[in-house]
Amino acid sequence: MLEIAPSKQAATWLSSFAQALEAGDTAAVTHLFADDCYWRDLLTFTWNIKTMEGRTAIREMLDATLATTKPTAWQLSGEASADEGTIEAWFTFETASALGQGIMRLNDGRCRTLFTAMTDLKGFEERKGPARPLGVRHKADPERETWAEARTRETRDLGAGEQPYCLVIGGGQGGIMLGARLRQLGVPTIVIEKNARPGDSWRNRYRTLVLHDPVWYDHLPYIPFPENWPVFTPKDKMGDWLEMYTRVMELNYWVATKCVSASYDEAEKVWTVEVDRAGRRITLKPKHIVFATGAYGPPRRIDLAGTGAFRGELLHSSQYASGEKFRGKRVAVIGAASSGHDVCVDLWESGAEVTMIQRSPTTVVKSDTLMEVGFDIFSEKALERGITTEKADMIVASTPFALVPHGQRAFYDVIKARDAAFYDRLRASGFAIDFGDDETGLLMKAYRTGSGYYIDVGASDLIIDGQIGLRSGVGIKALTPTGILFDDGTELAADAIVACTGYQSMNETVAQIVSREVADKVGPCWGLGSGVKGDPGPWQGELRNMWKPTAQEALWFHGGNLALSRFYSKYVALQIKARMEGIATPVYGEPSNSQGNRP
Ligand SMILES: Cc1cc2nc3c(=O)[nH]c(=O)nc-3n(C[C@H](O)[C@H](O)[C@H](O)COP(=O)(O)OP(=O)(O)OC[C@H]3O[C@@H](n4cnc5c(N)ncnc54)[C@H](O)[C@@H]3O)c2cc1C
Repeated sequence: MLEIAPSKQAATWLSSFAQALEAGDTAAVTHLFADDCYWRDLLTFTWNIKTMEGRTAIREMLDATLATTKPTAWQLSGEASADEGTIEAWFTFETASALGQGIMRLNDGRCRTLFTAMTDLKGFEERKGPARPLGVRHKADPERETWAEARTRETRDLGAGEQPYCLVIGGGQGGIMLGARLRQLGVPTIVIEKNARPGDSWRNRYRTLVLHDPVWYDHLPYIPFPENWPVFTPKDKMGDWLEMYTRVMELNYWVATKCVSASYDEAEKVWTVEVDRAGRRITLKPKHIVFATGAYGPPRRIDLAGTGAFRGELLHSSQYASGEKFRGKRVAVIGAASSGHDVCVDLWESGAEVTMIQRSPTTVVKSDTLMEVGFDIFSEKALERGITTEKADMIVASTPFALVPHGQRAFYDVIKARDAAFYDRLRASGFAIDFGDDETGLLMKAYRTGSGYYIDVGASDLIIDGQIGLRSGVGIKALTPTGILFDDGTELAADAIVACTGYQSMNETVAQIVSREVADKVGPCWGLGSGVKGDPGPWQGELRNMWKPTAQEALWFHGGNLALSRFYSKYVALQIKARMEGIATPVYGEPSNSQGNRP
């Protein structure tokens, strides 16, 4: 009896919610929510990725959208669960144009968080399971075209006689996953990649790189990694997987193709995109372009006095491939986040004399610890509990960004206590550690600034043991012909300097390809407007510009780690498909061009 009580409560709430929506009584709807409430919507009501915070925001959204959304068929899926007074239930529903699913969390009978997400466009559902394509026409036909012939024709014609509806610029993991989603939705798409082979985005990284996240978190849509795949994927293996995936998912993937420029005709609603395909200039005319050019923009190069004077080799981490040529050399690595640490280890393993230069504190978390306490719902144990990667993605997305810091702070309290001895040793080496301005750690740093953290897979012990030299807490005054001069007057001799100084925002790539004006109009990507260093307000409630309409019509951004790309590629694809099919997509909360600038 007790076990079904949460489901009953959830069903009662959902029924009242559905009735109030049906009646268009938005005041009654808001009374069903707690004082401190959130509704995160992925496309179903807002055709946007948006979180409404508080009753007023929820009511305003419904007043603006309910008439066109026409939500119906609200139904619980499975049993609700209860944990420390919170009832959680999954549900499905429909709108005029789409199918949706969601997760609600109730406290004392009222809704604290509601999450709604589009699963399919009605009439344009992905053809899978019982609806999978037949793959053959069982009829004698002298004109029969085989699958291989049809693929050859498509590959020949798309981008020549026929124009793609969508052009994805950048064929790293993000562009590839989005290309696969668009293909399954029947959106004619070309993915262009300046590298020679799919997967080179990983292969071209330094020799020793192995993914930092475990396999359960890394799956691609449609083709999960097999059960014997290692927990941590070596980068070349990842490259091969992406190459296989691109072929098997039938992407129209142009290698050795660089996007040179793009301009939008606002009247004709079409882009003119110039690409260089292995030395041949081609003009494409897609209706939509997606920047999947990298989680961040162009490299942030160091701008120090005396840079020109340095006689050794000076390179950015994006240009660093292997430590081999630095064997026996003195190398200074500027930067103490992920790339800085990994480059230091690679150099040390190659026999270089390495010194890391730390300019600001870093959040460090031991990989083992993250595995044990951080990937609870992305693990073998989670699978045993029925939490698939798809379900885990939904659970993660169902927490509004405003509530994430609270959970993360508690999570880092556990980590700090658990690894106290490790942190003491690391601090004793002179390494500056922080957990973010508000002690919320790595994940919030990733969302807010995408920088300043390291998942320890071995570098920290080398720093503790003095195998990797360290200069921390002192600024760099200038480069000299032979090394680095610090503010305290000391010098570090170096034969080479690797600047692991990060990347600019993605909209700087737009400035290079479209125009400065459009880059400024859309504003920076990532960051929540949390008001901490590097992520100035105003508060956005969502990540800036990612996966949703931007201030430039028909220009989208996509990217992120494997998990984010896997999940959000679906919503980018649905938005573009809806536009292709002429489905009305009134965007609630139009993007503005005043989203705050990241320094
Ligand atoms: C050391 C390290 C470890 C990491 N570990 C993990 C991990 O464990 N798990 C995880 O999920 N993520 C990890 N990441 C982070 C993240 O997944 C990657 O940065 C990822 O590559 C981002 O994918 P993307 O497709 O958005 O961008 P990218 O992989 O950078 O792909 C962008 C592509 O666009 C192409 N391109 C750019 N400009 C143009 C142009 N003008 N024309 C044509 N093509 C263009 C580039 O050649 C590139 O191939 C790690 C990153 C690093 C550096």
